[in-house]
Amino acid sequence: MKIHLAGSTRAFDAESGETVLAAARRAGLAFPYSCLSGNCGSCKADILDGSVHYPYNPPSALSKAEQSGDKALLCQAVPLSELTIAIREVEAVAGIPLRQLAVKVVAKNRLCDDVVELKLMPPKREPLKYLPGQYLDVLLPEGKRRAFSIANAPRHGDTLDLHVRRVTGGGFTQYVFDELSVGALLRIEAPLGTFVPREGGDRPIILMAGGTGFAPIKAILEYLRDIGNERALHLYWGARHASDLYLDALCRQWQAEQPQLRYTPVLSEASTLERHQYRAGHVHEAVLKDFPDLSRFDVYMSGPPPMIDAGRKQFTAAGLPEDRLYYDSFDYAPDVLAALIRARKG
Ligand SMILES: Cc1cc2nc3c(=O)[nH]c(=O)nc-3n(C[C@H](O)[C@H](O)[C@H](O)COP(=O)(O)OP(=O)(O)OC[C@H]3O[C@@H](n4cnc5c(N)ncnc54)[C@H](O)[C@@H]3O)c2cc1C
Repeated sequence: MKIHLAGSTRAFDAESGETVLAAARRAGLAFPYSCLSGNCGSCKADILDGSVHYPYNPPSALSKAEQSGDKALLCQAVPLSELTIAIREVEAVAGIPLRQLAVKVVAKNRLCDDVVELKLMPPKREPLKYLPGQYLDVLLPEGKRRAFSIANAPRHGDTLDLHVRRVTGGGFTQYVFDELSVGALLRIEAPLGTFVPREGGDRPIILMAGGTGFAPIKAILEYLRDIGNERALHLYWGARHASDLYLDALCRQWQAEQPQLRYTPVLSEASTLERHQYRAGHVHEAVLKDFPDLSRFDVYMSGPPPMIDAGRKQFTAAGLPEDRLYYDSFDYAPDVLAALIRARKG
């Protein structure tokens, strides 16, 4: 099936049963995406001509009106006819080769009760090219994979650093906490994702993290510092308790060193004592309270799906143009979501 890009002479082909996004990636096009499960909405596009269907996961990130209108989620949409689509490419990630490689765990550090930092060393002669904010997939048996954001900007050490939160009942994260030891090898595919800094403009930037969603934001902030950024940066980090802000001291140090950076930690389950020292509530609500009009901002956010969902709806309602909202949603892996959807259907 032929797929045309609106306003361009470029086109690519989808094979039978192939999603539009998979076909585009195979053709070397850099469309935005994040969860690859139909949940987050990063890959939303306009279908100007033709039609699609959803034989895999449903496009849960689309509203009913969007589904019956001309919007599609390209990570799940399979063409039913020749298509013409409109979507903005993320040029920065185009041309960076996607690779599979074995990496060695060279450090495993407990950052807080339920988060560990893994430092992964790629082979010396094969350093990985990636952009700040991108993620890698750990490749597991039976074709399963788990996504983890790279928490350090390129050239910030020789390793790829991950912040892994323990998930109750989680296959891979329990293995990381209980069994994985320094010296072990992991097979990864990287770099992935389009949650990368967009250059240009002098608008202030809001960066909002939830839990380990801090990992890609940390990499982006390291990069912005490297390039001598002068734009105002408002960093919000949401967690349940102060002890979950596992790099709070680093954020405070950045704030002290960089006059254009303001750091606001927000606790969703703040104790009475914590309420004296921290903002309490949901992190996206704190952003909206401080900036009820978001029309002059760029916003980057990453973390748990409910936070991303709330941000998507409420930030755009507060005047933020959809094309200046960039995010990575830490959804469960496609195989787990598919199993959950099957279980829900009964
Ligand atoms: C782009 C992206 C970046 C990410 N970055 C990070 C990061 O930097 N740090 C981080 O900590 N996480 C990150 N994640 C989340 C991460 O990829 C994993 O989803 C998470 O760590 C859980 O993996 P797991 O194998 O431990 O759990 P899974 O085995 O995937 O299980 C997840 C949950 O689902 C339940 N479950 C599993 N299978 C079923 C089933 N068949 N039926 C019912 N319930 C089931 C489990 O009990 C568990 O509660 C990211 C996700 C994405 C998409």
